[in-house]
This record gives sequence, structure tokens and C-alpha cells, in this order.
Amino acid sequence: MNHEKFMKEALKEAEKGDAPFGAVIVSPSGKIVSRGHDNVITSNDPSAHAELTAIRKLCKKAKKRDFQNYSCYSTSEPCVMCMAACLKAKINNFYYGAPMEKSASLQIRAKYTAGKFRKFKVNLIGDILKKECSEQREKLLR
Ligand SMILES: [Zn+2]
Repeated sequence: MNHEKFMKEALKEAEKGDAPFGAVIVSPSGKIVSRGHDNVITSNDPSAHAELTAIRKLCKKAKKRDFQNYSCYSTSEPCVMCMAACLKAKINNFYYGAPMEKSASLQIRAKYTAGKFRKFKVNLIGDILKKECSEQREKLLR
């Protein structure tokens, strides 16, 4: 898998949002099957984070809720809500760019949440295009 290629797509998605967060979901064959950006303000939905938006779209489109062997790429370390949603959707791989420090999110690290699901383990890897993701977040949060 080309992690940087998919993270660049997540960065493009982040440009469209109310806040600088973007995500894409990639199928086991390496195809982007869903995209999401932060929609919290526009949709008056506090749960409309990039990852959750991408998961909701994918579930609706695919008419299922189990995405084993899929991967999520997010420009930022996921909050506890989004990490839990990925675990419930059985998305096996989660790649993120910027760590959550300085973000307004609940400061519960993704690796803590990822390890708390009894029946399912997720492969969590950070720092994919970390500099680009951190700079974009800083720029767009101003
Ligand atoms: Zn979130």
C-alpha cells in the first residue's frame, strides 16, 4: 500500500471541511471507496468528524457495516469517538498524519482506545506525512 498517496488524498479532503480534518477509506484491493471531511458546523452535527463521515457514507453505499481488511487514512490522530467507530466497523488498519497534541479533541490517545476493544485489534500507525498534516491543520485552524 502506498501510504503517502492515500494520505495526500485525505489532505485534499481536509481542505473542504469546516475544520482541517480529512479521511479516506481504502478497500483491501487498494481502491479509495469513501472520503470524508469535517462537517460539524455545516450539518449542525457534533459527530460529523472526517472519519465518521467517511464510515457513514461507506456503510450507506455498501449496505453493510463490516469492513475487515479495509484501511482508514486520516490527517489527524483520531478522537475516541472516531477510533471507536472504526473498531465497530472492523476497519483493520488506521493510518494517521498529525498527532492529536494541540487539537481540540478529547486528549485520549488513539493507541489507548485501539487497545481496549476485546474482540478486535487494529493496526494503528501514525506519522504518515506528519509534517504536511500538522502544517495544514495549523494553517487552517487560524
Ligand atoms: Zn473524531
